Amino acid sequence: MTAAQTTETLLIPGPTPVPATVTSAMTAAMINHRSESFTELATAVHTGLQAVFQTEQETIVLPAAGTGGMESVIVNLLSPGDRVLAVTIGNFGERFADIAETYGAAVERLAFPWGEAVDCDRLAARLNEDRNGEIKLVLVTHNETSTGVTNPLPDIAAIVRRHGALLAVDAVSSLAAVNFRFDEWQIDVAVSGSQKALMCPPGLAVLAIGERAWQAAAQATMPRYYFDWQGYRKSFHNRHTPYTPAVSLMYGLREALRDILDEGLPTVFARHAAVAELCRQGSTDLGLELFADPRYLSETVTALRPPAGVSPALIRQRMRQRGFVLAGGQGQLKDEIFRIGHLGYIREQDVQRGLDALKTVLAELREEVAVNG
Ligand SMILES: *Cc1c(COP(=O)(O)O)cnc(C)c1O
Repeated sequence: MTAAQTTETLLIPGPTPVPATVTSAMTAAMINHRSESFTELATAVHTGLQAVFQTEQETIVLPAAGTGGMESVIVNLLSPGDRVLAVTIGNFGERFADIAETYGAAVERLAFPWGEAVDCDRLAARLNEDRNGEIKLVLVTHNETSTGVTNPLPDIAAIVRRHGALLAVDAVSSLAAVNFRFDEWQIDVAVSGSQKALMCPPGLAVLAIGERAWQAAAQATMPRYYFDWQGYRKSFHNRHTPYTPAVSLMYGLREALRDILDEGLPTVFARHAAVAELCRQGSTDLGLELFADPRYLSETVTALRPPAGVSPALIRQRMRQRGFVLAGGQGQLKDEIFRIGHLGYIREQDVQRGLDALKTVLAELREEVAVNG
């Protein structure tokens, strides 16, 4: 694999660099989506997704951003007025809660300070108070991209399972980068997107859906049409889709899944861990401070506080001039942090080159601060 031709290096948590193998797979000739050829393509994609989600449950692919996949979770699992516990540790957790509210669910937020992970004792205590089992669905973000924190998902899943509510997980920036065991952790629904660790361009939401979630979907009355999972399930059995699928992106996804599974999930996870460690070590060596709780540092995105007197926007601007694209802070963290994404088709040398540029940029900016005050 080599990187597709590009003038800048993307060190953002999505979209991520797309390998040339994936780019070229997407140029294959168009086919009829009601054909044997499409059935073959869909079968390969679904089998690959099952391997990556570590599940034997059904998967579906929606032509949508990851947020569309999240919206599909809400409209398929709930009826208006249903009680939802949205566990939030940052911007994407807030988004999941907002979607549920938009559709008329009765959303209670269990929010933790940005930069921290879920406090499992508090989650367990809240669910224990719900003696009549009124909370129907718990929403949680596996890896909170806005703060660079990975939640202890196996512990969270065990707590939710004991209570009995459904558990829906936003795995957009974790799937295929850090361990995610859908079946073993007894997750009900998980959603991800093509443009993060799955090494594809933006445009596909992918979901794994367990049996309890299918049962809930059969009862749920929130309005839905395009995102109605039942239509996808019916078509699924002959490997077709209810509406025209994003065929070219699926060619790309088939190739990316092949590449990921050829590398081997344990190797992929170890690579992400090593690149993340390099990024943290390199950044702290430059005098930068990690934003997140050190116990729950993300292996896909590192959030950093700039040196005193230097704005994150300026760091990003100078890095851009050197050919490296970094991410800013979101929401309340806009002026406080910047972020380095290291997921998907990323190698240590990519991050190392970014760190080398960052060293030069920080030296320049520190000098300017010293001169100009
Ligand atoms: C990127 C991301 C999303 C949103 O994905 P879009 O494709 O931009 O809609 C949701 N959740 C997390 C954790 C993400 O990192």
